[in-house]
Amino acid sequence: MEKNIFEQIRDGDAKSDIVYKDEYVTAFHDIDPSAPIHILIIPNKKIDTLNDITEEDSIYLSKILISAKNIAKQFKIDDTGYRLITNCNKDGGQEIEYLHFHLVGGVRLGKMISLPKDSKKIFKKFTESNN
Ligand code: AMP
Repeated sequence: MEKNIFEQIRDGDAKSDIVYKDEYVTAFHDIDPSAPIHILIIPNKKIDTLNDITEEDSIYLSKILISAKNIAKQFKIDDTGYRLITNCNKDGGQEIEYLHFHLVGGVRLGKMISLPKDSKKIFKKFTESNN
C-alpha cells in the first residue's frame, strides 16, 4: 500500500523541516502554518486516528507530550503559552489519516473552538437529543 505523506516524512522519503526526532516521535513544521509556531508531532508508529489508540501505544503518547513540552521550550513559547491539538475524523477536521498533534503558539491564540455563526442552533439540537 502506498505510504501517505506523514509516513513518507517519518521515513525521510518526503521533504520536511524536522525539528525533533527520536525512536518514538517525529516533529516537523506544518507546511501551511496557522500560527507563528506550528509544529506537527507524530508517533513513529502509524496510528490512523485518536480512536485507534490502545494501551500498548501509551509510550508513544507520553513521548508526544514530553516532546511537545521540549519543543515549546526550544521555540521559546513555553512561558508565553501554546496549545496542543489533535483532530479526529471528519467533524474534528482531520485531513491526514495518521495521528498527529499540532503544537501552535507564538501569538495570543483566540477561542479554543471557532464555529460558523449558525452552528449554535445545531449545537442546541445536538445537546437536546443527547439528553
Ligand atoms: P489535520 O487537518 O489535523 O489533519 O492537519 C493536517 C496538517 O498537515 C495541516 O495543518 C497541513 O497544513 C499539514 N500538512 C499537510 N501536508 C504537509 C506536509 N507535506 N508537510 C508538513 N505539513 C503538512
